[in-house]
Amino acid sequence: MDTIKELGEFELIDKIKTIFQQPTDALGIGDDCAIIPICNTHLLVTVDTLIENVHFFSDHPMEKLAEKAVNINVSDIVACGGVPKWAFLSLSLNPSMKIAQIEAFLESLRKTCAFYNIYLLGGNTTKDNKLSINITLIGDTDKPILRSTAKPNQDVYITGKIGCSACGFYAIKNKLSASDECLERFLSPKARTDLIDQIKPYATAMIDISDGLLQDAQHICSSSNVGMDIFLEKVNMCDDNNLDDLDKIAFGEDYELLFCAEQKDRSAILSISGVTLIGHTNNSKKLTLYNNGKIITPKKYGFTHF
Ligand code: ADP
Ligand code: MG
Repeated sequence: MDTIKELGEFELIDKIKTIFQQPTDALGIGDDCAIIPICNTHLLVTVDTLIENVHFFSDHPMEKLAEKAVNINVSDIVACGGVPKWAFLSLSLNPSMKIAQIEAFLESLRKTCAFYNIYLLGGNTTKDNKLSINITLIGDTDKPILRSTAKPNQDVYITGKIGCSACGFYAIKNKLSASDECLERFLSPKARTDLIDQIKPYATAMIDISDGLLQDAQHICSSSNVGMDIFLEKVNMCDDNNLDDLDKIAFGEDYELLFCAEQKDRSAILSISGVTLIGHTNNSKKLTLYNNGKIITPKKYGFTHF
């Protein structure tokens, strides 16, 4: 094995984690955010990058791109049970980019930050052939929710609908028609800040679905050292016809929340609008996907870069 492609994204992250000693008084690599206890609270820090022709097409509307860049980071803060507060913006720009375009991007970024009460405190600006947007977002929480604290025999839930972003992307890429909902979910997904206060009292572990339902569920399994049974027929699935269910769940970019909770809280949780019970955790340490009673083995669990 001599290339990064052969090694794989998550093995590379594991390698980085073993090279750099991790602190004992803070949580570093391995969750949706780094978690730093400070002054009776916990700072949450996350960073995500969007690169032209990797994450978005060149004609992605600038306003939507700015909204997406903020929301994908807010989603990681929410997944740790927090509130976003401060942002840093790093831009790589092609010199031929029109000033009007960057102005449209910045105005939308301003509005989106204002919506979430986020202050932009700094950043970095460089030249590149491709547009790349990198946001570091800092938030805080009184009670962090981790990927690593699920226990066997708990329920597994997701918020919202899965697969709309996949279908929006597929339609744009192949010049097909799609519902406004699918297009919007790919072009400008929204973090679930609307649900976090209701979920937080119950969630024993949580992750946001950015890379695919199964892949992100698998992160909870490996971090928490539990197994999971997930029932495909229970997933609230996007009803677009262009992709099948396995492709819908493997694309990611849903930015919904996947969380575990004690069975005793089931009726309280199911009274939260937009939350669906899709499975449970167990002792098996492996994730099993069922579809109407049959075990299925998907070829792809989710998106990886290499
Ligand atoms: P998410 O999808 O929630 O943004 P990622 O899969 O990107 O999470 O990252 C998982 C964990 O690995 C996070 O804790 C992140 O900070 C860490 N990580 C990813 N890439 C690197 C890197 N190049 N160096 C150090 N840590 C990294
Ligand atoms: Mg995440």
